Amino acid sequence: MEYNELGKTGLKVSRFGLGCMRFPQEEPEAIRMVRYAIDHGVNYLDTAYVYKGSEVTVGKALRENYRNKVVLATKSPIWNIEKHEDFERYLDEELKRLGTDYIDVYLLHNLNPQHWETVKRFDGLTFLDKMVKKGKIRHKGFSIHNTFPAFKEIIDSFGWEMAQIQMNILDENQQVTIEGLPYAAAKDIPLVVMEPLRGGSLLVNPPQEVLELINSYPVKRSLAEWCFRWLYDKPEIKVILSGVNTMEQLQDNLAIFENSAPQVMSAEEQELIKAIQKAFENRKAIGCTNCKYCLPCPQGVNIPKVFSMYNRHQITKPHNVQKIAYRCEMVYTKSSGDHCIACGQCEEKCPQKLPIIELLKTSHKDLLEESTFNAAAK
Ligand code: SF4
Ligand code: SF4
Repeated sequence: MEYNELGKTGLKVSRFGLGCMRFPQEEPEAIRMVRYAIDHGVNYLDTAYVYKGSEVTVGKALRENYRNKVVLATKSPIWNIEKHEDFERYLDEELKRLGTDYIDVYLLHNLNPQHWETVKRFDGLTFLDKMVKKGKIRHKGFSIHNTFPAFKEIIDSFGWEMAQIQMNILDENQQVTIEGLPYAAAKDIPLVVMEPLRGGSLLVNPPQEVLELINSYPVKRSLAEWCFRWLYDKPEIKVILSGVNTMEQLQDNLAIFENSAPQVMSAEEQELIKAIQKAFENRKAIGCTNCKYCLPCPQGVNIPKVFSMYNRHQITKPHNVQKIAYRCEMVYTKSSGDHCIACGQCEEKCPQKLPIIELLKTSHKDLLEESTFNAAAK
């Protein structure tokens, strides 16, 4: 495993970080995976108050002398904050869940203009400084799924020690954008990257053209390896978080990161990535990462599942398999897109800024159009 310094924190961190948002449901298996990762050199763990059950599981995994082997990062649920004291109350709850008396890197979660106002209104920055003095946290950071201007404003407003952004081969021009990398570096802010595979969606039935491109390249690498390689090539990125949910994925990722040095990509490799990006963009899939922040919908619409079925349908059509599944699973359980009443709650919460209401309409229409199943059912 390659290690590097996390900016002015001085922490030595593994280039591969374990994202703890998508653990398997069976807790013993999740614990086994966390310990396996640590035993194989991963020392950066990223969780959050809102990742269901994750902090408790991580806390259990870190018993038996594992705690002192890791840099533990977790996040404050800004959208739950209603007064200054809430910040410390949530932090204390997180410390208890994690079974530790300090957090190495504490992040204000998912800052956007609205949450940033909450931070300012309830003096969240003073809270961070106070917690460092009390020893409850060691270093201060934030995560963001918002625009480059929002990123700049937040970076310039405080003595942050790190930032966590979304970046992958399809997000060069989305959210913080690739411009954020040199900007953060110029301010001595090391970056941790999340969603390197867009919640795994980049690997689910990629376009045939992408497979042909990587298969015909002289050096054989999997699509996952190309995606990670493009990220670890960038010196501003110190940790790449992968939210694996099986032991097999974990082992596969560990192998990819064995030689993960920056500035390793040749001009030909960069060209290959450009061609892969173009092939993905031609497919026009919905960029949902399955993070589920938009749920629950008060009308019971299973938003990420509708989008996942729509995306799969773009790959499998003209076959009707997804249309049939949509009718059987979604329409039957009243979780299909047509139950949306356009209240807008989900769009406010979506870190990808997807126009969910419109996308639900088009997805539902496309998935419900005449199919063999519909015709047979008449
Ligand atoms: S806009 Fe539609 S999908 Fe979104 S929360 Fe409201 S009802 Fe649910
Ligand atoms: S629609 Fe947005 S919030 Fe909902 S799962 Fe997809 S990316 Fe996440």
